[in-house]
Amino acid sequence: MDKRTFLKSVFLGAAGVFASGFTTKLKAARKKKKWNGEFLLPELPYAYDALEPYIDARTMELHYSKHHAAYTEKLNAAVKEAGLTGKTALELLAEVSKYPLAIRNNGGGYLNHKLFWKMLAPATGKQPSKELLDALNKHFGSLDAFKEKFNTAAKTVFGSGWAWLVADGDILKITATPNQDSPVMDLVAEKGFPLLCIDIWEHAYYLKYQNRRAEYIDAYWNVVNWDFVSQRYVSNKTQKTT
Ligand code: MN
Repeated sequence: MDKRTFLKSVFLGAAGVFASGFTTKLKAARKKKKWNGEFLLPELPYAYDALEPYIDARTMELHYSKHHAAYTEKLNAAVKEAGLTGKTALELLAEVSKYPLAIRNNGGGYLNHKLFWKMLAPATGKQPSKELLDALNKHFGSLDAFKEKFNTAAKTVFGSGWAWLVADGDILKITATPNQDSPVMDLVAEKGFPLLCIDIWEHAYYLKYQNRRAEYIDAYWNVVNWDFVSQRYVSNKTQKTT
């Protein structure tokens, strides 16, 4: 080996080491980004008191940091026990009839609350986008008539559950589900893409409204995040979301 060949091999060797080190780092970075299958309590997009006076800070704190946290933790335990790690919440719920009841209850609890927080926002007096308003007018006659029908669905749920506005293709429907069931579950009677929901478990309102569920439902309209709901309506129509 002459000097030039020697230097060349040293250089290439170093480059090789550098390249493989770089590749290893890249692989590690990609691995880090890859989801490990564990569900995390999603960040609340506003402060606990941001929805006052309609939804009080203490209720928000308990609802998020205790109830939603518990669904998330129990979902992780149930997924692990069932050997389903790696499936997304939507994947689990879309075939939830095949899985243990703990996946249905806690998967629903995890995803329903994740959506619910985003469907709320500090009161701004904003209204649905023109596109969504047109669709609500078409399906329900008017925004007020839609709210009335949604309110009735929410008020008449027996016990704990949720009321929903969902899109089923181009059709908008109002539905209700018991417990933590969701319109994205395969086993519910009326399926659809959730646009808007209200949690009507007593834990969502009892501290402030006690047994007056109807008052809570009326107050809820002040803190509906119409921007988010309108975006979901459009994204579902253009099928950019799942
Ligand atoms: Mn809840």
